[in-house]
Amino acid sequence: MEMYAAMRRRFGHQGWWPTAASPGPDDGALEICLGAILTQNTNWKNVEKALANLCQAGYTSVSAIHAKSHAKLAALIRPAGYFNVKAKRLKNFITHVYEAVGDDIKTFLDRPTAALREELLSINGIGRETADSMILYAAGKATFVVDAYTVRVLTRHGLCAPEDDYEAVKEVLESSLPQDVALWNDFHAQIVAVGKEYCRPRPRCERCPLEPFPHDPMAGTNQV
Ligand code: SF4
Repeated sequence: MEMYAAMRRRFGHQGWWPTAASPGPDDGALEICLGAILTQNTNWKNVEKALANLCQAGYTSVSAIHAKSHAKLAALIRPAGYFNVKAKRLKNFITHVYEAVGDDIKTFLDRPTAALREELLSINGIGRETADSMILYAAGKATFVVDAYTVRVLTRHGLCAPEDDYEAVKEVLESSLPQDVALWNDFHAQIVAVGKEYCRPRPRCERCPLEPFPHDPMAGTNQV
């Protein structure tokens, strides 16, 4: 919590997940889920371009995306990179939701966290980080999102070992923090801010808000 407070003082509340100005009747749930898939292996600016293309083409509902061809979808999300793979993943996800609940993605997301996570992980192309992003930011349920920045920061601060897997790092965070959706939402966003600005492969500890906390900037260098 002290680390969170230090990051929050520096960066301010991050207001995640970044969605369009008018998120629509589903409170941006579909947009967040699409973004969680599109952001795999690319930066957010590229995701925004792909989401804007989808929006302009009217792909703003589960049924609209479900009705369109893979080729059309792939062309629209091209800015996000790996567009053929991601179009397939989007289609897998959308088909799964459509067959379960039609257009009502809020109903799809409205189930106990463990059950929702299991369901999402059963969809081809949805990995742990993507599933947890959907659960935390679209469903508003408590699960911690672990990404490469999280592993790097925690490893350098001796809070996890370089060989720890996704679930182990997630457990460190979830068992150390109060179970609070709003806190976990912003905590992950703060770690991303630290990772982007300071905790890069070559760390910039001098001005980092986490500099006062014990750390070894070279820990896990080969892994991160
Ligand atoms: S840049 Fe340095 S102080 Fe900041 S999180 Fe990374 S290891 Fe810690």
